[in-house]
Amino acid sequence: MSKASQKRDSTSAQASEAAPTADVSKALLLEVYHRLYERYGPQHWWPGESPLETVLGAILTQNTAWTNVEKALANLKGTDMLSVHALRGVAEPDLAAMLRPSGYFNAKARKVKAFINYLWDCYHGEMEEFLQEDTEWLREELLSIYGIGEETADDILLYAAGKPSFVIDTYTRRILERLALKPSDGKSYQAYQRLFHRNLPRDVSLYNEYHALLDRHGKETCKKEPLCRGCCLLELCPRGRLSIDTSNSQTL
Ligand code: SF4
Repeated sequence: MSKASQKRDSTSAQASEAAPTADVSKALLLEVYHRLYERYGPQHWWPGESPLETVLGAILTQNTAWTNVEKALANLKGTDMLSVHALRGVAEPDLAAMLRPSGYFNAKARKVKAFINYLWDCYHGEMEEFLQEDTEWLREELLSIYGIGEETADDILLYAAGKPSFVIDTYTRRILERLALKPSDGKSYQAYQRLFHRNLPRDVSLYNEYHALLDRHGKETCKKEPLCRGCCLLELCPRGRLSIDTSNSQTL
């Protein structure tokens, strides 16, 4: 743990708490969750058999579909590469070849190597030891590693470390905007995350399921061209009601 990181941790936590409160109804945010859960049921995220597999999945899923990540992970499993020790020893070009199905495989091999080297240098390769660190500090450290941005860091925090850090992705932003549940203090990743952190209990199970459900809803229903008729959120959604009213008036 570096002193610089400790300082970053405390200042970022203070800044986060001092930012303006999002103008959003806690009840409405929970109502969205309950409706999604009722519609889709439990999502059983994250699909991974170990914290290492979850971390790798979080890196490999950047800019690609999960089915492609599964193929890359299968390549690693099939060659006994799913350990910190093995990933440290493999040459980057060989790793890139195994990661090819996930796309951007050269960049992703570099990112995986960067994470593994960090873990090796700072924690002797002990993933459990790393993941049990304080949440805010862990997040800062993850963000300092090459190739790990905010969404990937929060994926790792929530699904590998079991820390209450809400994950924001494109689906989440789109659904919230359509529901008129945008944060009142900006459009940044952190503004969206504050909206959830301030209006929901800091509950790992709830964050785990809520993010997975938003992802499912964004893929299946609230797509770029949303399927509003029959959507479980229609009654709560200004954009959905508008599109239904418009389409009804066009058919009259
Ligand atoms: S009603 Fe339409 S726009 Fe609103 S959440 Fe559902 S699919 Fe998305």
